[in-house]
Amino acid sequence: MRFITYNATNFRKIEYLRYLPESVKKEIEIVAKVIPFKTNNYVVDYLIDWENYETDPIYILNFPNRHMLSPIQYARVEEAVNKKWSKVELYKVINAIRMELNPHPAQQMTNVPKLNGETLNGVQHKYRDIVLFFPTQGQSCHAHCTFCFRWPQFTKELDLQFSMREIDKVIDYIEINKDVNEILFTGGDPMIMSPETLTTYIDRIIERKPAHLQTIRFGTKSLSYWPFTFLPEFSKEAEDMLSLFRKITSNGLHLSFMAHFNHPVELDNHVVQEAILNIRHTGAEIRTQAPVLNHINNSSEIWAEMWKKQVNLGLIPYYMFIERETGPFEYFKVPLADIYRMYNKAIKLTGSLAKTVTAPVMSASKGKVQIMGIVENPLDGKDYFMLQYIRHRDFNQTYKPFFMSFNPSATWVDQLEEVSI
Ligand SMILES: *Cc1c(COP(=O)(O)O)cnc(C)c1O
Ligand code: SF4
Repeated sequence: MRFITYNATNFRKIEYLRYLPESVKKEIEIVAKVIPFKTNNYVVDYLIDWENYETDPIYILNFPNRHMLSPIQYARVEEAVNKKWSKVELYKVINAIRMELNPHPAQQMTNVPKLNGETLNGVQHKYRDIVLFFPTQGQSCHAHCTFCFRWPQFTKELDLQFSMREIDKVIDYIEINKDVNEILFTGGDPMIMSPETLTTYIDRIIERKPAHLQTIRFGTKSLSYWPFTFLPEFSKEAEDMLSLFRKITSNGLHLSFMAHFNHPVELDNHVVQEAILNIRHTGAEIRTQAPVLNHINNSSEIWAEMWKKQVNLGLIPYYMFIERETGPFEYFKVPLADIYRMYNKAIKLTGSLAKTVTAPVMSASKGKVQIMGIVENPLDGKDYFMLQYIRHRDFNQTYKPFFMSFNPSATWVDQLEEVSI
């Protein structure tokens, strides 16, 4: 299977686009100036129901639409395009709108550690037992999610490009930080790297493995966006990738494949199902995570169905996230109270092995905060949110339930006030 990408310049070649009126194609072109747009032949052929594209979750996940910008923002880009403004003028408009879309939420840039006085760009260390590594060649994805909070990485004009060529410095850092027992390869998507490139990183880790390093994680959407990566009958590279996984697990490291699934339809075809089996046969575990997104998966039935399918396929539900306030957040946002109630219903419908999921969780600047419930205080008859940090920059602050004011329309923890009861 040959990988064909479609973006703002060539997407009109997609044959199913005959289902879209011309006006919608123009809108895609306009919004794609601001929001990175990329999809591929697997997504287009296997995942999208083109006859119902307007409400199709995967279409909305990949194709920008005009509602992802405010009417004013949309009109500004539309004017610049229609009046054929110069590149420089157009760029000014685009960049100004991008800045309005909060490109760096939760102070992602502040967790970069130092080694012997040198800043380790390409590494983040926020929670004591795990470091994130952003390999240079893995800072892109097989397709782009329209909601993605890493979107500044995909727009070259902005400066956020975490990357580092040298795994050795990361291992030096882990060696002296004895609490670190996990390294998480992330991006973008590390599975976009060739097995050859990834092997150069992994071989160094295996050769120099500090005794306290136990787990390698890959944060990836490849099972949804390009499962052929794990099907040897389609390429020799897939066999090399699976061999690399076997090498990791046979060298005493746990390999946790953190798979991002937004909707059960991504689990429904034989290609992804075979890819899952092949990965599991290497000794790796597959854990799953995704944010709740309006227009895509904002329903307890969808989550219950997704978790049931995941459990049946041997996947381990891990996180249900709350979408960060970035990019087209206005379009995708769901209030915290609604998400909590939706989760509560979904987990009851699923039961059993899906209760490995931690949910719903916000990855905020202090840490990962979970909504544990909406509780009525008998003293004043009012509702409160009960929360806990399951991850906190300050290790001592984890797993301590606390209360915050209830606000039915709040969408992020910073809109609530802490209260003592
Ligand atoms: C989410 C996250 C991790 C991983 O945390 P787990 O709870 O172990 O999955 C690590 N570092 C950062 C900065 C994170 O946001
Ligand atoms: S796969 Fe992940 S990093 Fe890539 S575009 Fe989607 S959300 Fe962003």
